[in-house]
Amino acid sequence: MIDIIEFHIVEHCNLNCKGCIHFSPLADKSFVKMKNFKSDVKNIADLTKGKVREIHILGGEPLLHPELNKILKITRFYFKDSQIRLISNGVLLLSMNLAFWQTLRNSRIHLSVTEYPLNINYKAISHLTKKYNIEFSFYALSKENSQWHFPIDITGSQDEQYSFDNCRKGNNCTNINIINGKLYMCPICANIKYFNKYFNKDCIVDDKDFLRVRSIKDVGEIEDFVSKPSPFCRYCNVKDRTFDNKWDISQKKIEEWV
Ligand code: SF4
Ligand code: SF4
Repeated sequence: MIDIIEFHIVEHCNLNCKGCIHFSPLADKSFVKMKNFKSDVKNIADLTKGKVREIHILGGEPLLHPELNKILKITRFYFKDSQIRLISNGVLLLSMNLAFWQTLRNSRIHLSVTEYPLNINYKAISHLTKKYNIEFSFYALSKENSQWHFPIDITGSQDEQYSFDNCRKGNNCTNINIINGKLYMCPICANIKYFNKYFNKDCIVDDKDFLRVRSIKDVGEIEDFVSKPSPFCRYCNVKDRTFDNKWDISQKKIEEWV
């Protein structure tokens, strides 16, 4: 059984946190196409026989997707027994309509909200989840509102084996990211294209850094892929990772990511 698979459905975000490891503050406005999403979910469900412990639906901010309800229903259709978590920053939750809350309840979706130091009425959100009988959890930042800083080495001169061996995202099945037909072992490699474009850099993602979902033969191929370094690991400066990225809105400065 695979532990967690994450499906990106929206690339941009309505919050834009400093140093976001999905690079959403730098991303173009972009939504997963329904055709691609359905094909990826179906292919992964066929490969795993639906045996994935947890599916994450995220972004960017997934609540921005105009066809979110359809996405959640499709996911539940293919993964009858998995825990499905919708991971949101909560900004839009209090303005969601009844159909959204009914979809969460009827499709047994767990709502997971990151609690940022913002003026959001988290109590009201919690109240709504009780009212509609939705499984719910908050993901709190640390007391100091700090998060991990994951610096990129734009020269790509890190030892990829060292980076991988010392990375909390490496060698596990909890960070598998699927975006538009490609499976990556982590969100950094999956989304670096936005960093490259915005800062005019060239951190290379080549065809050894991902699997094409349609071509994967069996679960063993996924396990094998995530259990050894990706060439892209040479861009991760794992030695200088620190837990001092105090939460703030991104100024879109390169220092937030290098
Ligand atoms: S809310 Fe999440 S996805 Fe959006 S910018 Fe912040 S960390 Fe990134
Ligand atoms: S590219 Fe490699 S080292 Fe960097 S976060 Fe992903 S798995 Fe970890």
